[in-house]
Amino acid sequence: MRYGEKVCRNDKLFVKGDVCPLCGESNFSHSWKGMVIINDPNESEIAKVLKITKKGKYSLWTK
Ligand SMILES: [Zn+2]
Repeated sequence: MRYGEKVCRNDKLFVKGDVCPLCGESNFSHSWKGMVIINDPNESEIAKVLKITKKGKYSLWTK
């Protein structure tokens, strides 16, 4: 857990603004573990496992 970084609970994306650009909601958590950066979701096994379809920085676990 790091202060200042928040993660969308819906899709686990790290969000800097007030609204998640993926789902348009403000359902954020500051309790997260792990970090993965997805550059090409179509070529990433991790992205498939996590069901990530857009590139970005994601957490592996979010409370
Ligand atoms: Zn979201």
